[in-house]
Amino acid sequence: MLKLLFISTPVGPLGSGLGGGVELTLTNLAVEMLRRGHQVKIVAPAHSVWGDLSIEEIPGNLQIHAQTQGRDLPIQMPENSVLGKMWDYARTVQSDYDLIVNFAFDWLPFYLTPFFQCKIAHFVSMGSLSIALDEIMAQVAQNFPGTLGVYTQSQAATFPFASSCKILGSGIDLSMYEFCEKPDNALAWLGRIAPEKALEDAVEAAEITETKLKIFGKIQVQEYWEQICQDYPAAPMEYMGFLSTENLQQELGKCRALLMTPRWVEAFGNVAIEALACGVPVIAYLRGGPAEIVQHGKTGFLVLPDSITELVEAIGNIDQIDRKLCREQAEQEYSLVGLGDRFETWFQDLVSEVGLNDGERV
Ligand code: UDP
Repeated sequence: MLKLLFISTPVGPLGSGLGGGVELTLTNLAVEMLRRGHQVKIVAPAHSVWGDLSIEEIPGNLQIHAQTQGRDLPIQMPENSVLGKMWDYARTVQSDYDLIVNFAFDWLPFYLTPFFQCKIAHFVSMGSLSIALDEIMAQVAQNFPGTLGVYTQSQAATFPFASSCKILGSGIDLSMYEFCEKPDNALAWLGRIAPEKALEDAVEAAEITETKLKIFGKIQVQEYWEQICQDYPAAPMEYMGFLSTENLQQELGKCRALLMTPRWVEAFGNVAIEALACGVPVIAYLRGGPAEIVQHGKTGFLVLPDSITELVEAIGNIDQIDRKLCREQAEQEYSLVGLGDRFETWFQDLVSEVGLNDGERV
């Protein structure tokens, strides 16, 4: 039995959607580790709620999203930082745990690593965004080998320390997602509404194909959303709100396809596997995580990045995809048990290794 301390992202409470896919990854993993008999304590910003998971809520100001900062900007912290306080909490309870697992894509936990007695595993949830952060992560990769985990190969490749990253993928509780064989005509777009996700490309493709686009997710950057509404006043789109997994899967399942149009190197794209689990094919740019997930021509289409023309063409071909194969792929590659196996092995290897953080500092 492992005693695990999970430290959540400082950019939003769990369940708010502000943290993006890492909220789902952390909570899925917590549920699976508890099911396996491990002890898990979750530390997260105040107002975090996720089913019946017990969460140690820490008050304080949220961290600014790294993706809204320039590559060469210095690291920023607000006053009364929730990130600082979560790690202060971790410091005081560390002797009760075998392993701390960091889910924050932020400088501080990497910087603090050598100051902790308890070993720290870092789950890195985005690709490279900042020079200062890359630098501190590289130091941890070198001094604490094996402690950096990522979602995908393409995400790892954005970092100068790619070969030190453990590729862990993602997974979901498939029993929560119902397979829908006969969809309506609408397309889906799903995720945080923020510039790096390039929702406007999906809106344009929906307008050209005259197909309704249902948009689900947290409006993270309000001006960005308003700009899209202004630029495409006649587009057949409908904002459906930010839904719970239960409601989301019901609505998503009825859609003909999911459009994934990120401008950045998406680290994974949990929304892709949620769609597949409902039997919904995924049309995505051939870039980042989705390019490692979608089986072109079988469970969706991978198209030239940033090409609206190719998106439109793929939408026209969507009936070639057998929705059963989408669900099958999710079952074979993205189960919660599979996710649990990969992480459990990683955690156990780190805990059993004698090395740094065990008093054998070099
Ligand atoms: N999501 C949700 N309800 C919604 C829309 C999105 O819970 O109405 C969640 C979705 O389940 C996924 C996350 O938002 O876990 C988006 O994560 P993704 O990995 O696709 O992208 P990220 O935001 O991490 O860049």
